[in-house]
Amino acid sequence: MTVTDIAIVGVGKIARDQHLPSIGRSDAFRLAAAVSRNAKVDGVETFETIDALLAARPDIAAVALCMPPQSRFAAAWAALSAGKHVMLEKPPGATIAEVQALTRLAEDKNLTLFATWHSRFAHAVPEAKAWLASRSITSVSIVWKEDVRRWHPGQEWIWQPGGLGVFDPGINALSILTEIMPHPVHVIAAELDFPEGRDAPIAARIDFADHQGAAMTADFDWRQTGPQTWDITIETDAGTLKLSSGGAELAIDGKLVSKGEDREYDGLYARFADLIARGESEADIAPLIHVADAFMFGRRVVADRFDM
Ligand code: NAP
Repeated sequence: MTVTDIAIVGVGKIARDQHLPSIGRSDAFRLAAAVSRNAKVDGVETFETIDALLAARPDIAAVALCMPPQSRFAAAWAALSAGKHVMLEKPPGATIAEVQALTRLAEDKNLTLFATWHSRFAHAVPEAKAWLASRSITSVSIVWKEDVRRWHPGQEWIWQPGGLGVFDPGINALSILTEIMPHPVHVIAAELDFPEGRDAPIAARIDFADHQGAAMTADFDWRQTGPQTWDITIETDAGTLKLSSGGAELAIDGKLVSKGEDREYDGLYARFADLIARGESEADIAPLIHVADAFMFGRRVVADRFDM
């Protein structure tokens, strides 16, 4: 098997929790360098900026961009321009147009751009998609509620423009929805709760519709302490499907039919290797479009001040 030298850019929570361990387990990638303003990664050279990395290490063929969305475009553009394959953390950008521009550049340069949606690689998502393919959907209910203080300690970017607020986790649910639904849906109403003094919402309620008039809702909240909820329930003409634990578990009519370990990021790196080998890109913006539509079409509600 060909081994691709890869650099990690942005060494924060997700790089340490998932990317570095998955690269360590991968037969297809070898960690060759890191870019960080503050951290060092054991065993590899660390650069302060991506430009310094690109100038010094022409041997590196790929980069994984693990920084917040607001600074991802500039880094991705520089990396593609320097001839690197690029993996983007989710969301793939702070705007839709920048992702489209990157897609075009990757195409022009014959490079792989992989806009990842890690939740699509949760254990039970492919089975849920297969089960739904032949059924008629009558309703969808997404409940995605977690504790922002637990999952985003010390992160200010999540509250800034482009940080997405509660859509940072909520977009994971939308990435599953857009993967498993047999047909497209669209936002018809939304309410976004912005805490006083914050530029991003802490909660959101969205109504979706499809061409068949099915009732579809998403309820996102970042203030849930205690047990966390990442559930999608879909009623059909032939039973009820429930994906829970972020897509790790699948139940049909209340009976657990599938449950698996968290291997989402190993799956992402395997897909990235496969895309590079095939000379292809994958950059689906459907989840980001729903978030943009909720911001564009949603009613804004002022919520209580929220301190981290
Ligand atoms: P984080 O802990 O704040 O780390 C992001 C890192 O990016 C920082 O440590 C910093 O690393 C670098 N960075 C570069 N420019 C930055 C800027 N302008 N502001 C802040 N940091 C900057 O965030 P994270 O939780 O890892 O999230 C990063 C991305 O991963 C987000 O898009 C998020 O949606 C996604 N993600 C996160 C999780 C999670 O559980 N937290 C799960 C899945 C996906 P250096 O100091 O090394 O430069």
